[in-house]
Amino acid sequence: MEKHLQSPGKLWLVGAGPGDPDLLTLRAARLLESADLVVHDGLVGEGVLALIPRHVARVSVAKQRSRHTMKQELINELLVRETRAGKQVVRLKGGDPFIFGRGGEELDAAREAGIACEVVPGITAAAGCAAQAGLPLTHREDASAVSFVAGQCKDLTDQDWSGLAGHGRTLVIYMGLATASAIADKLIADGVSPDLPVAVVERGTTAYARVLRTLLTDLGDLVARERVASPALIIVGKVAARADALDCLGAPGVAEHIRGIS
Ligand code: SAH
Repeated sequence: MEKHLQSPGKLWLVGAGPGDPDLLTLRAARLLESADLVVHDGLVGEGVLALIPRHVARVSVAKQRSRHTMKQELINELLVRETRAGKQVVRLKGGDPFIFGRGGEELDAAREAGIACEVVPGITAAAGCAAQAGLPLTHREDASAVSFVAGQCKDLTDQDWSGLAGHGRTLVIYMGLATASAIADKLIADGVSPDLPVAVVERGTTAYARVLRTLLTDLGDLVARERVASPALIIVGKVAARADALDCLGAPGVAEHIRGIS
């Protein structure tokens, strides 16, 4: 990558991890101390934001599903402008910047503008939530492949997920709450067993985390019944049976049934 070092400003695309400030990397924590400006999104936990020193300027560019507080192009412009002005700009993003974080677009903008940019990885929600739930995403007996997909797509029906869930596989769905029912229908239509265990991890790694489990066929109902709130992750696969989770299907004997599925 061509480096333009004439400006002392630098942009850092930093992963804030899934919520718990203890899961921040040492590099991220150090950069928060030395930044001139922190530009963060809505997923970054309060505990992490509390680590930003008072003298460091802070801008929130929180987005919501239906209401974009700041469009991505404007965020890119802001990052480039402030870095060109000679600042150390930390773009702080939930989880890892390159997993459904639009970090790739921000890196493109930085490259195009010729500003120095470095990426600092973070613990992505899948890893954080799985750890909290005691749910191994891969397991010698249950899963030798794991996939991350985005459930919040206008064109969910056009997404080809066939083969990503089912025997020997774990499918992790980000941003899947609003479309949970459609996701279950889609997977079942693709041939995935309606009896496959599913875990839903709400606000993973925080003190308010809930880990709920059901079968694929009940996923949409579970999300509605339990009023699962964002952010939440959906994990589909036999490994979900290993999680420390609340079994939510309700009918007697369901927990045993889930554990007995082979
Ligand atoms: N870059 C982030 C993902 C951004 S997409 C990362 O690497 O984790 C936002 C989605 O991430 C949410 O809709 C949710 O599915 C998931 N997510 C993020 N933090 C979460 C958390 N603490 N608990 C559960 N899911 C989370």
